[in-house]
Amino acid sequence: MRAGARLSLLVLSCLLLLATTPDNEQPLSGYSDTSSRSERNWEVKFRAIPEPQNQRDYMQRLSARPHHVGSPYDKDNAEWMLAKFKEWGLNANIESFDVLFPTPRVRVVELVAPTKFTAKLQEPALAIDPTSNQLAEQLPTYNAYSGDGDVTAPLVYVNYGITEDYEKLERLGVSVKGAIVMARYGNSWRGIKPKVAAEHGAVGCLIYSDPADDGYVQGEVFPNGAWRPRDGVQRGSVMDMAAYPGDPLTPGIGATKDAKRLALKDVSTITRIPVLPISYADAQPLLAELKGDVVPDSWRGSLPQTYHLGPGPAKVHLKVQSNWDIKPLYDVIVKIPGSTDPDEWIVRGNHHDAWVNGAEDPISGTVALMEEARGLATLLKQGWKPKRTVIYCVWDGEEPALLGSTEWGETHADELRQHAVAYINSDANGRGYLLTGGSHTLERFINGVAKDVEDPEKKITVWKRDQLKAIADAKTSEERQEARQRADLRIDALGSGSDWSVFLDHLGIASLDLGYGAEDGGGVYHSIYDDFYWYTHFSDTDFSYGRALSQTAGTAVMRLADSDLLPYDFTGLADTIHRYIDELQKLLKTKQDEVIERNKEIEEGVFTATADPKKTSVPPPVEEVPPHLNFAPLQNAWDALTRSAERYQKALEKVTKNGELKVSPASRQAINSQLLQNERKLTSAEGLPRRPWFQHLIYAPGAYTGYGVKTIPGVREAIEQKKWKEAEEQIVRAANALKDEATLVDSVAQELEKGQ
Ligand SMILES: [Zn+2]
Repeated sequence: MRAGARLSLLVLSCLLLLATTPDNEQPLSGYSDTSSRSERNWEVKFRAIPEPQNQRDYMQRLSARPHHVGSPYDKDNAEWMLAKFKEWGLNANIESFDVLFPTPRVRVVELVAPTKFTAKLQEPALAIDPTSNQLAEQLPTYNAYSGDGDVTAPLVYVNYGITEDYEKLERLGVSVKGAIVMARYGNSWRGIKPKVAAEHGAVGCLIYSDPADDGYVQGEVFPNGAWRPRDGVQRGSVMDMAAYPGDPLTPGIGATKDAKRLALKDVSTITRIPVLPISYADAQPLLAELKGDVVPDSWRGSLPQTYHLGPGPAKVHLKVQSNWDIKPLYDVIVKIPGSTDPDEWIVRGNHHDAWVNGAEDPISGTVALMEEARGLATLLKQGWKPKRTVIYCVWDGEEPALLGSTEWGETHADELRQHAVAYINSDANGRGYLLTGGSHTLERFINGVAKDVEDPEKKITVWKRDQLKAIADAKTSEERQEARQRADLRIDALGSGSDWSVFLDHLGIASLDLGYGAEDGGGVYHSIYDDFYWYTHFSDTDFSYGRALSQTAGTAVMRLADSDLLPYDFTGLADTIHRYIDELQKLLKTKQDEVIERNKEIEEGVFTATADPKKTSVPPPVEEVPPHLNFAPLQNAWDALTRSAERYQKALEKVTKNGELKVSPASRQAINSQLLQNERKLTSAEGLPRRPWFQHLIYAPGAYTGYGVKTIPGVREAIEQKKWKEAEEQIVRAANALKDEATLVDSVAQELEKGQ
């Protein structure tokens, strides 16, 4: 605690230094000289406000007891935060929804043959860890939205349980039909594992944490170190969120009191087979009774035994039954009305619910958001008047299915489509580098913000540190050169995994996800050990990166809320789209080359000659070579977007020359109201094939990867799934969206040119 206090003084003095030295003379993008100077002054004041000690105190309070959806402490936390926001003088309220949230009633995993073993399914309390013994309030280890089931079947080991693993199993002559599969955590979102298992005919699914992935192979285990102990279990949702997230009973609409609800039997996002997560202590006796061939090299985990594929002779009894109850959600919503442009909204969010005590996930992010809100409240008292409306949201029910954000987004869909400028998300925070994902129209903007925040460990800007890491991590000289010379560091596209999904994927609102990490590894994710003790011993122990997150996200909110012209950039978008189109063409070419080569090897007899007759091995079937696709519509649309982006950039430079802003007030409003619609142009109301909820045509979580993003997803997934006709259709749809975007950018450029 002492060390933290010393550090905070040090950082404070650096900030004051920054405040007195005009570090950056360039006016901020979208600002005039005068408005930029005033903005920078307010931002410097803001960044001096967030306090690590406050974040530590809030965390201790919010993670003191388990606080999952529907628990007493979940509601208690929401009310406590509400009171805090009000105490700071902010206008806050709680918005409530009623959602389907299953909790476990019966959980059984037992080995019934050839030996007997009953899994504990219980994480033990540790004497040194004061909140680990709150058994009565802890959610048992389970996977929410597993279908109910009672099955006894032979076991098969399926590695990570993703599509490629089943292709390999087929080659090895192993079928999972009628079997229970044992998959290890990792390499995909967990909900994909039971989905793919069921598609291959499995009747049940176990998911365990192998020590290779987040246990003793990575580092000392808790409580001696940060990593997962032998009885640690990763809880988590297995709902098919790639179809649609949010309340399963109210797809596409808010789960308000009288919303029209689906019957439980009609819900498509609940798994078809029962699934449970287990620790490696519970998995090992089951794996030890598997025979059959030894698994391929890359499938081996780190348990001290030989890994076999099965099926059997291990036979497992798996039983899962849930209470399928409706539970209330409590979203805490804070509104700061805009002074001159109240109809343009900046939305900022982080969730507050956890699987258990959740100090890291999500409270480390929640407390950063709270200190931001306190900072803005302080500035308001000092006379800061944001042009635009700022909305701070603390979501409930993120863990089960992004429930609180999705239901709020769906309830307010029309207003959000009309008014939202951007959504800024954070979630669990740690120590290390600024990690940024988001819409590429905001790439330049967030680079600018990162140049004004100081890294608490290295005393250079977080941008500079990220750049130096990009140089260190570069795999080719081109990448290294780009990291040194490109004006902006690239940001990742967003897949799924936190509360931005409804904003970006469903409503087409430009989004950012911010957080610090990469020096904060650990293996307590979604276990009872993710708590205050763990966080304050092994993660951002002095909360200096908690402060950095407050400074980063808060600066972003202010800069978006105060700018004269909305600071989207389209040249970065066009540049990124070009890379995506390139990747798609390469993907098709690689697929073609692979099939040609494999067909040739089948003809040459390579597979039969190299198959060990003492092992089972099935040669792959001859496949049709993928056809050529016509990418011209995408390339032409990209050309148009590039031209419009350049025209816009030139026009913007002209109207902001010499630090003036030569745009009339009426014109400014017209430009902004058009600009804030730009991300919407990249969506289509029909959505993606077979998942209409996902309307963004440039970014989506993969239908078979979950967290992992698929860019230009309609086209990419059609190629991956060998749907050639669909690929051609999707090329045209994505191209049309890009053309619409180009038209909007062009029209704004034209409006700007009037001012010159
Ligand atoms: Zn989270």
